[in-house]
Amino acid sequence: MSKMRLIVAGAGGRMGRALVRAIADSDGAELAGALEAPGSELIGKDAGVLAGLPANGIKLSGDLWTMSAEADGILDFTVPAATIANVAIAAERGIAHIIGTTGLSASDDAVIKSVTKRAIVVQSGNMSLGVNLLSALVKQVAKSLDAGFDIEILEMHHKHKVDAPSGTALMLGRAAAEGRGVVLDQHSARGRDGITGERRSGDIGFASLRGGTAAGDHSVIFAGPSERLVLSHQAEDRMIFAHGALKAALWAHGKPPGYYTMSDVLGLKD
Ligand code: NAP
Repeated sequence: MSKMRLIVAGAGGRMGRALVRAIADSDGAELAGALEAPGSELIGKDAGVLAGLPANGIKLSGDLWTMSAEADGILDFTVPAATIANVAIAAERGIAHIIGTTGLSASDDAVIKSVTKRAIVVQSGNMSLGVNLLSALVKQVAKSLDAGFDIEILEMHHKHKVDAPSGTALMLGRAAAEGRGVVLDQHSARGRDGITGERRSGDIGFASLRGGTAAGDHSVIFAGPSERLVLSHQAEDRMIFAHGALKAALWAHGKPPGYYTMSDVLGLKD
């Protein structure tokens, strides 16, 4: 069978470079294009060399329409504005769009979902196996424990991360809310500071730490009367996200149009 031809968006970024390495290691996929922001100083550079590999002849370009003519999918770990611009082109071309970008607004998410009647989208705030298993466990624990247990989500990321709370923290928050049978937006406490008053019963709290090179630490704390249950995941290398995204692309290849998440890819849907 021929290899799946994949474009890496944000090919000069931390995740983009990891994705180029993951594709180079894969038997099922090959790099079909490397997208960067038009005007970036990296335009014209070799994607392999940027990723710390031998040159592969794929030069970074800002023109997704042209490079997607012969592609099967796009792995997109960029910024919200770029991802939303890429959504329309991927849908028009009929190629699978694997979205790892975080910090998307509710209206961005609505734009993404609006194309999935005719396009294949796999979106997840965290593409690692471990976090997706953690998410399933969080939902189960939240379902089992009553509201006497307060749920708090703590995350730490490297100092360059620009959005907070992390997409993963929000994903874990949604899992906890689903387990409790509530809507996260109506039961979330974000950014406490000053005289905040007592904790509102039933809230799911978020706290974000930033520093160093941490690829992503997440803990979900269930704090009850006289006992605490803590479920945690530590990402030691961002290659876990790159391998997850590649797995999602290969899974999506040939699937009917629709909106999918890593739970579909990993068979974790209940
Ligand atoms: P990063 O190093 O800043 O990489 C983002 C890249 O996208 C940069 O090279 C940036 O270029 C580029 N970019 C900006 N505008 C673009 C455009 N219009 N077209 C193409 N490329 C464009 O960040 P990162 O650490 O790789 O993370 C990227 C995103 O993935 C973040 O939202 C992060 O939270 C998310 N993430 C998700 C997962 C997951 O599993 N879902 C895991 C890790 C990270 P410039 O530097 O020139 O702006």
